[in-house]
Amino acid sequence: MADPKGFLTHGREVARSRPVGERVRDWNEVLVPGSLLPIISEQAGRCMDCGIPFCHNGCPLGNLIPEWNDYAYRDRWAEASERLHATNNFPEFTGRLCPAPCESACVLGINQSPVTIKNVEVTIIDKAWDNGTVKPRPPERLSGRTVAVIGSGPAGLAAAQQLTRAGHTVAVYERADRVGGLLRYGIPEFKMEKRHINRRIEQMRAEGTRFRTGVEIGRDLTATDLRKRYDAVVIAAGATTARDLPVPGRELNGVHQAMEYLPLANKVQEGDHVTPPISAEGKHVIVIGGGDTGADCVGTAHRQGAASVTQLEIMPRPGDDRNPVAQPWPTFPLLYKVTSAHEEGGRRVYSVSTTHFEGDEDGNVQWLHLVEVEFADGRLNRKPGTERRIPAQLVTLAMGFTGTDRDNGLVEQFGLELDERGNIARDADFRTNVPGVFVAGDAGRGQSLIVWAIAEGRSAAHAVDRHLTGASDLPAPIRPT
Ligand code: SF4
Repeated sequence: MADPKGFLTHGREVARSRPVGERVRDWNEVLVPGSLLPIISEQAGRCMDCGIPFCHNGCPLGNLIPEWNDYAYRDRWAEASERLHATNNFPEFTGRLCPAPCESACVLGINQSPVTIKNVEVTIIDKAWDNGTVKPRPPERLSGRTVAVIGSGPAGLAAAQQLTRAGHTVAVYERADRVGGLLRYGIPEFKMEKRHINRRIEQMRAEGTRFRTGVEIGRDLTATDLRKRYDAVVIAAGATTARDLPVPGRELNGVHQAMEYLPLANKVQEGDHVTPPISAEGKHVIVIGGGDTGADCVGTAHRQGAASVTQLEIMPRPGDDRNPVAQPWPTFPLLYKVTSAHEEGGRRVYSVSTTHFEGDEDGNVQWLHLVEVEFADGRLNRKPGTERRIPAQLVTLAMGFTGTDRDNGLVEQFGLELDERGNIARDADFRTNVPGVFVAGDAGRGQSLIVWAIAEGRSAAHAVDRHLTGASDLPAPIRPT
């Protein structure tokens, strides 16, 4: 156990963020690097090393949290990093991007603030990189078996790293021009700088994983080609079909899916020349959707110099007691969370629905018309007389995703069955209906958290390894739901 009285003598403290006025003028990470270091011993020492550590259950990866809290408390960084990597390929990603269900599950949270698990995690891994203790771990011998992984987001990368380390020859196919999937082009730099992805890719290359960018399976290479070349295939292509808003005016210039807007902003940060860019500079920006992607659009618009930023959410504001069923989904608090982007300004409007967009004579969006809604009889109903319009010169749609991409031919070429939610159907061993073809991450689970994607990748790797060799020592933290 770390400090037997730590939770009695120290309150929870978290890593510091840079001042708003400073950080909205650049794209660097919001968190001050290493800001927890001076108090890491106190904070990690608050962990009670519970007999039944509910934090384990809260984490899909089964992270060994009390163990690395203890090492961090004792300043034993190499061991802390080893314990961290025992269950997680990419703790620098989760330490920055995961909403930390482990902290919601922390036993200390019953009558105190929970342990600062996420910040301790990112402090350990950042220090490990700084100390040079994160090294390539190539396999001792090759199996002679080959695996193709489609998609280089967190699920694909986790599966690829596990399978490479198990001795298989792995190639990752990515349709974009750079590796990283959603991490690269969906997540803004201010949440996670791309250098974290780049050095992991370098580690993976040194271990033997091969990357093929700019290759879209289904278009540039057929499913038949892939199945001929490889002994197994893991589809980790994400759930990239975005939910749309089919209202009048949707076709106007300036109304974009979030995943059109954010990737271009990220490409500019990568130094690419993007024409035409989608920029919020000087514009009244409306973000439709209250989740993480919406918050990323808000933060991006702030940094691009928007005239105003308004985020619309169809669901009620939490605690809105004018609406007795204000929390119809009480177990879905992520929808309402306040992120760093919201601290930076802008306005959030709840319980509204967009009715249509209005443009100028050149076809550019200028106004968004909305109406207030309320719950009644288990349904969302429009409130008559509450219609109004707000200025809107750039609109981003961040309303979630409905399933795997159906446009590139991948599903049809493989002959994959889909489940009722539009995701690729799989059995309890991540197997699709096509022999030798597995699915991991959002492509099978549907839109989810990065920590689930990594857990899926690790578990699918176990299933593939077993398929190829008859047994596997790779960990399998989860089963498909
Ligand atoms: Fe420590 Fe909280 Fe996990 Fe208990 S539940 S072991 S206090 S992190």
